[in-house]
Amino acid sequence: MIAARATISGTSAGPASGTATPTGAGKDRHVPMRRCVMCRTSQPQADLLRFVRGESEYRFDARRRLGGRGTWVCRPCAASTVASGNDKRLRSAFRGQALNMRELLDDALAAGPRRPSATTARRDGGMDVR
Ligand SMILES: [Zn+2]
Repeated sequence: MIAARATISGTSAGPASGTATPTGAGKDRHVPMRRCVMCRTSQPQADLLRFVRGESEYRFDARRRLGGRGTWVCRPCAASTVASGNDKRLRSAFRGQALNMRELLDDALAAGPRRPSATTARRDGGMDVR
């Protein structure tokens, strides 16, 4: 007995409508985001305070221009740290090198530009790498 094996192929392929994948992210406005070392949320760079580690201690980088690796703290975290005086999280974030961190935060909150005013749209080509 020969088992006739009927292979039926050719059932009409379903309408697999190709999901149109939009090529990449077409963001028209690129907002640089940074992560706060204390609350670990990513926020627009302009809303964060940048600190750069110097030879022995950190410095507040008001203009975000200093070289080196920046450490970012958001304003609410900075404010709460200054207000409460509890800098445990800060110390752990800065790995014990935050000896003057509260003063730095205080200065930063006072001096930090709230937001770059839109009227003075000046471009200084100082793009720093992190
Ligand atoms: Zn934060």
